[in-house]
Amino acid sequence: METDCIFCRIAAGEAPAAIVYHDDEITAFWDRRPAAPVHILVIPNKHMDTLNQADTEDTYILGKMILKAKEIAAKEGVDERGYRIVFNTGTEGGQSVYHVHLHLIAGKKLPVFHG
Ligand code: 5GP
Ligand code: ZN
Repeated sequence: METDCIFCRIAAGEAPAAIVYHDDEITAFWDRRPAAPVHILVIPNKHMDTLNQADTEDTYILGKMILKAKEIAAKEGVDERGYRIVFNTGTEGGQSVYHVHLHLIAGKKLPVFHG
């Protein structure tokens, strides 16, 4: 755990967040500035700055994060309507918190990404 990392602190229960799911490997919570009616972040409890630090050992945890996001989408009632899962990575990827996280975004028609 990195004490100066806000997402480590949320995962450890040391900083407040609207927690949707938590176990000893991953935590899901509402984004504090939602970009859509559903905007939930899913993180590994273990600190990793960006996806660039991930390797094959992290295959399970990254898969688990995606499957949890899918499950939350169903719980929020947006699975059939559709949703977006995003890992912003690095400066040009728009990452602002350097603890790996995925965004589950849904609940409105999202702009089509043209690159
Ligand atoms: P990024 O830009 O790194 O992909 O996304 C970081 C996200 O984390 C942003 O959408 C931002 O609103 C959210 N965020 C930043 N700090 C906090 C916090 O302390 N609590 C919560 N719930 N969300 C946060
Ligand atoms: Zn962290």
